Amino acid sequence: MTAYDEIARTLEHRLVELTGHVAAIDSELRSKLPADWEEQATQLEDQDALEGIEKSKLLEIRQIRLALQRIADGTYGTCSRCGEMIDPKRLKALPTATTCIRCAG
Ligand SMILES: [Zn+2]
Repeated sequence: MTAYDEIARTLEHRLVELTGHVAAIDSELRSKLPADWEEQATQLEDQDALEGIEKSKLLEIRQIRLALQRIADGTYGTCSRCGEMIDPKRLKALPTATTCIRCAG
């Protein structure tokens, strides 16, 4: 039990959600191109957009894993730069924050 159990649960939930999204995007990206070249062009544009979305989701997954790791090893909630406590309000708004508001700014 830690003070950040609730945040950990929220993050784990989000992680499952994101993993599902990324899997859906992956299968979409692997789908075959249509025979019609105009449709192909549209699909390739869609794939570009999807790849962008996938990238940002993968980044969020990485940040969430790091946050969960920090909760597990007890370093969560302290600024990685100055070592001060991060404002709980900031953590609530941005659970993956690794720095206090001063160091982030
Ligand atoms: Zn700081």
